[in-house]
Amino acid sequence: MVKVDIKYTKLFINNEWVDAVSKKTFPTINPQDETVITQVAEGDKADVDIAVEAAVKAFHRYSEWRLLDASQRGRMLHKLADLIERDVKYLGELETLDCGKPVSQATNEAAWSTQIIRYYAGKADKILGSTIPADGEVLSMTLKEPVGVCGQILPWNYPIPMFVWKIAPALAAGCTIVIKPAEQTPLTALALAALIKEAGFPPGVVNVITGYGPTAGAALTNNPKVDKMAFTGSTEVGRIIMSGASAVNLKRVTLELGGKSPLVIFNDADVEKAAQIAHRAAFANAGQCCVAGTRTYVQSGIYDAFVAKAAEIAKNRTVGNPYEDVQQGPQIDQDMFTKVMGYIHAGKKEGARCIAGGDRHGKIGFFIQPTVFADVKDDMTIAREEIFGPVQSILKFETFDEVIDRANNSNYGLGSGVITNDITTAMSFVKHIRTGTVWVNTYEHVAPQTPFGGFKESGIGRELGEEGIQQYLENKTVTINLPKKFGM
Ligand code: NAD
Repeated sequence: MVKVDIKYTKLFINNEWVDAVSKKTFPTINPQDETVITQVAEGDKADVDIAVEAAVKAFHRYSEWRLLDASQRGRMLHKLADLIERDVKYLGELETLDCGKPVSQATNEAAWSTQIIRYYAGKADKILGSTIPADGEVLSMTLKEPVGVCGQILPWNYPIPMFVWKIAPALAAGCTIVIKPAEQTPLTALALAALIKEAGFPPGVVNVITGYGPTAGAALTNNPKVDKMAFTGSTEVGRIIMSGASAVNLKRVTLELGGKSPLVIFNDADVEKAAQIAHRAAFANAGQCCVAGTRTYVQSGIYDAFVAKAAEIAKNRTVGNPYEDVQQGPQIDQDMFTKVMGYIHAGKKEGARCIAGGDRHGKIGFFIQPTVFADVKDDMTIAREEIFGPVQSILKFETFDEVIDRANNSNYGLGSGVITNDITTAMSFVKHIRTGTVWVNTYEHVAPQTPFGGFKESGIGRELGEEGIQQYLENKTVTINLPKKFGM
């Protein structure tokens, strides 16, 4: 086992490390061996209220933060990216300890996060309003202003990227932040808080409250001084956030929620390549991915060959100690382990054909075998519900319209993919599928420049790209009297 130094376990408020007001702590668990890694401060409403006051103060019109030039905000973000690059190995190892993902993946995610920070660093001084040829004797323009104090709540599946997706556009826009990482993975958020301080962000601009959802998370949602909530997590909790936010002060809300994404493979595809793409789509991050391509629709002409290949690839997937050279570590915790195993049992019971995996891996830790089901029917539980584990469901189809109807028959609409060499088939799929992202002959490619988010119950609003920063800006329309005739 790699020894990772844990430097921070307290709340981060006003650039200081503090205990929870209640003095309570909670354990964070190593998913690899089920041991307690350390105790972390358990923030609740009292701490959230203090952190929100700090963020309100940091947002005052004459605060150090508000008086900075936009380009200086950009420079601070670049500095933060530099510091993450300096500490990238440590951050990767810490993430693996808390989250269980293979260390090479965790390190890559930390490195990739710097690209997002740099993208938004560059945007800080390019936030442009417009001039508008309005009717009447006026000159009109819009000013783009920071939305204010932002509450941000994170999931555990990509702790570092999720932290960065949330803070980078908000800071580029000039907002202040109270952020709550998931209770399963608090450690890298605290390590990043230390780097935020080192980068020179003034006190109160970013505050990190570790703790549980129904206490700390709910207190953030229900705080009337929070102007906007940004949430990534389950659709169920997304609903709670939205109704809480609307009940209190109609704060702005952006939600990145669950999915049940279809990947559709047509007869003309290369079976080997398609099976590889579909494998990565389903099993990346041990299936703990909101856009996981868990419904693999395969056209009948290549169905049998594809099923054989998918099983072969899954059986060869390496699972084990995430500090070694493996493709898959454990699931995040006991709850998710139990939930995913429940879905595997449901798949078997409801008559799907289990052609790879189907059981736990090893005896200690939350490891699950890469599992593939063939002959899955649309009404089976594993084809309808989000599993969030290493389970691929393969379904057979005959025609284009049939598969579009079936793929769209979901309350979710986050991601989708199509594999074909025919441009008309690909573009017709793009046109008719109802998802926030569509990948063609690839899957799960996400870049700082491209917006990410969902149709239907997969979310509201977008992160990344230009849309990502717009969610942290208010529009102020300015109309100035300007006579059409003057001085005559
Ligand atoms: P979750 O919704 O249980 O928890 C997410 C966060 O919400 C955690 O920080 C948790 O403490 C907090 N929370 C829980 N109850 C709360 C409450 N009542 N009020 C306020 N906050 C509360 O989800 P999870 O288990 O962390 O993550 C898995 C889910 O997240 C999956 O459904 C997945 O699809 C989704 N997800 C979506 C995206 C996306 O970008 N769309 C990304 C990652 C994960």
